[in-house]
Amino acid sequence: MKQHTFSKRNIMKVLKFGGTSVANAENIQKVKSIVAEEAKKEKLVVVVSAHGGITDLLLETAHLASKQDEKYQEALEKIESRHLEIVQNLVPIASQSGIISYVKRELNTLETLLEGAFLIGETTPKLLDKIVSYGELLSSYIINQYFISESIDSVYKDSRQLIKTNDNFGKAVVDYKTTNTNCENYFGTVSYSTTVVPGFVASSHEGNSTTLGRGGSDYTAAIIAGAIQASVLEIWTDVSGMYTANPKLVKQAKAIAKISYQEAMELSHFGAKVLYPPTIQPVLSREIPIHIRNTFKPEETGTFITKNTNGKEQPVRGISHIDNISLLSLEGPGMVGIHGISKRFFEVLSQKEINVVLITQASSEHSICIAVATDDAKKAKEAIDEVFEYEISLHKIKPVIVEHQQAIVALVGDNMKSHQGLSGKMFSALGKNNVNIRVIAQGASERNISAVIKKEDVKKALNTLHERFFEENIKQLNLFVMGVGNVGAKFLNQIHQQKKYLKEKLKLNIRVVALSNSRTMVFDEGGIDLKEWEELLGNGEKADKVLFFEKVKKLNLRNSIFVDNTANEKVASTYADYLKNSIAVVTCNKIASSSAYENYQYLKDLSRQYSAPFLFETNVGAGLPIIDTLKNLIASGDRVNKIQAVLSGSLNFVFNNFDNQNPFKDVVKQAQVEGYTEPDPKIDLSGIDVMRKILILARESGHQMEIDDIENEAFLPEESLATTTVDDFFESLSTYKNHFDEIYKEATNNNCRLKYVAQFENGKAKVGLQQIPKDHPFYNLEGKDNIVLFYTDRYIDQPLIIKGAGAGADVTASGIFADIIRIGNF
Ligand code: ADP
Ligand code: ASP
Ligand code: MG
Repeated sequence: MKQHTFSKRNIMKVLKFGGTSVANAENIQKVKSIVAEEAKKEKLVVVVSAHGGITDLLLETAHLASKQDEKYQEALEKIESRHLEIVQNLVPIASQSGIISYVKRELNTLETLLEGAFLIGETTPKLLDKIVSYGELLSSYIINQYFISESIDSVYKDSRQLIKTNDNFGKAVVDYKTTNTNCENYFGTVSYSTTVVPGFVASSHEGNSTTLGRGGSDYTAAIIAGAIQASVLEIWTDVSGMYTANPKLVKQAKAIAKISYQEAMELSHFGAKVLYPPTIQPVLSREIPIHIRNTFKPEETGTFITKNTNGKEQPVRGISHIDNISLLSLEGPGMVGIHGISKRFFEVLSQKEINVVLITQASSEHSICIAVATDDAKKAKEAIDEVFEYEISLHKIKPVIVEHQQAIVALVGDNMKSHQGLSGKMFSALGKNNVNIRVIAQGASERNISAVIKKEDVKKALNTLHERFFEENIKQLNLFVMGVGNVGAKFLNQIHQQKKYLKEKLKLNIRVVALSNSRTMVFDEGGIDLKEWEELLGNGEKADKVLFFEKVKKLNLRNSIFVDNTANEKVASTYADYLKNSIAVVTCNKIASSSAYENYQYLKDLSRQYSAPFLFETNVGAGLPIIDTLKNLIASGDRVNKIQAVLSGSLNFVFNNFDNQNPFKDVVKQAQVEGYTEPDPKIDLSGIDVMRKILILARESGHQMEIDDIENEAFLPEESLATTTVDDFFESLSTYKNHFDEIYKEATNNNCRLKYVAQFENGKAKVGLQQIPKDHPFYNLEGKDNIVLFYTDRYIDQPLIIKGAGAGADVTASGIFADIIRIGNF
């Protein structure tokens, strides 16, 4: 670029205020305060956007007119009323009439243009630029008038007289030579302290209005800043800088204090709308810093964009994304080794002015894949298919395959090249959260790693990556909880109590996003308030297990965990759906793991395949770490040879209280009343529950076993087992009083106590009542305690023992909690 004569650097600065900053009178008053303050220090150029939303309305009215839809007038009326309202709320009544008649005059001219478009049923790009230019032309006029009325020494300058472009309407190319001279000449002599300039608009050499592309007011400001060697270019907007990710999608995103030109350019090219991508170029060679600031929080530091930032410690500076991407792939056997395919491919795209956002070519040369904006996809496909028409007709190349509904997410940072394993981290984080990556690309500068993913996964992907690269400290877990009975309610209570501790000490942020019982369900993406979950759930919508799953899937949140606190078979049958969507499952429900081996194995396989933990520690021994210990033994190469255990709190209670003082029936009744058995105590006394538990332990030890393979030495008489009602069952316990007394007597005669024992040895399992001698670890087992002995290759004579409270809602809830924390640390 030519060196210019303008060298009054540091005496002027350029401030640009975006659409939201000037959207209404209240905001414009804030702008005025900022300008008045800054004008005390330096001369200013103030570049303004159209009032927020006006450019869209102008495009809408033009579109309607060109379709000969009379509704264009309604859109025009909206445009008029927005402007008049701003004037009326901004300037004193005495000064209003002149401004209002100016605005009306301009809008009359606009109306004439629209009538023309309506009559012909068409808008040309040239006319469209003329129409949209009114947004900035009017806002800048109004704002300057207001500044004057507020005693700011301000003057208006039409940027069309400064910035010259070619006639590429809609996104004109700047003629820097003429533009720079115009700016130097004008600003070199301007005597006012503040010059207000419309952004976005420019003019062609023939004098027609042109525009610089959507979001182009940033660019206008940069062009002027570059031309006059401004001390700084300040971009005033509605957020406090350039963020680590789009703050509208990632709540945890933070403003980046300092960033290099290259990083900022890369982020904005990949979708960080806060800065229009061409903005950097005019200020780059002169190293004019860009400072992004928040009009609504001027006290915040914002983001400085400069040449070097010395940010070696932070390899990833930001994450951005582009929505509405389509993938186009060209492939076929005819592509291998043939020279010039890529040349023809990219040449035609460039001729058609199609912007290729991302390119990958397989090393086998078998395919070329590109990402383009969806709006360009049709045109691109047609152009490429036409260029390769001959090869396609010979079946050497297949017609272009187009996939819509894609998006790109990109990690950006100057120092990524000096750090290893970033792409590995990126892809594993996405993979763990079931974000499927279609295509990856890494620029040669290694400043950018991009992945093409499904559009619907964007929010989850951004949050996942943000957590991985910027919040390594805090991890958010999203829980979807089914079942709020005894265990469920305790569990919610524990989360509520522990929330602060978990966040501070374990760096886990646990959020319950959904709750359901058998009647109702409630969802809240922001997290259900656990102080009033009962009321919120009570007012929820009708419960539906399928709909519940669909909603969880649709929310598509990272680190999702489905928690089953029920004992329901239907709930257990939904686990596969969750796992297949990489949603972890934590359950105290034994049904799934003790159902057919095939089903158990299927769920385990899904868990592995989709990297979704499937944890059920509480299936055996409530909160005791039995399954986890077993897993660790196996994972470290040990082998389980024998398991001996007392696994039923209910049966333990019964036999600890049974002696020849009280009839057996009364003891069982007491256990039932005190809630230590199932409502139907036969389920406990028949041994089914213990069979399920030892089955799960055998399976977790690596044995393929079915429930029918377990030997059950029932101590109940056949008649008791055959009863069909609870009353009949109790009746039969009375009838067989002697049978039970006999069992007791025999044990005491042998100096033994009765324990209901589960055993697994040599691949075989059995459960049953046993006489336990004094020296055995089971002898002194109290209350509802459980105990497990693991005999393994390493623990041969002295088994590994786990013992403690093995039943009760509190300990079960804490076991579920422990599983969730295991996932958090995963
Ligand atoms: P203005 O009208 O002031 O030019 P824009 O709407 O063009 O403002 O740009 C600001 C918006 O950019 C923010 O409100 C935010 O939604 C969006 N944005 C996207 N990515 C980022 C990012 N990485 N940092 C900050 N803002 C971003
Ligand atoms: N008003 C234009 C737009 O909405 C330019 C800008 O605001 O930067 O695209
Ligand atoms: Mg903008």
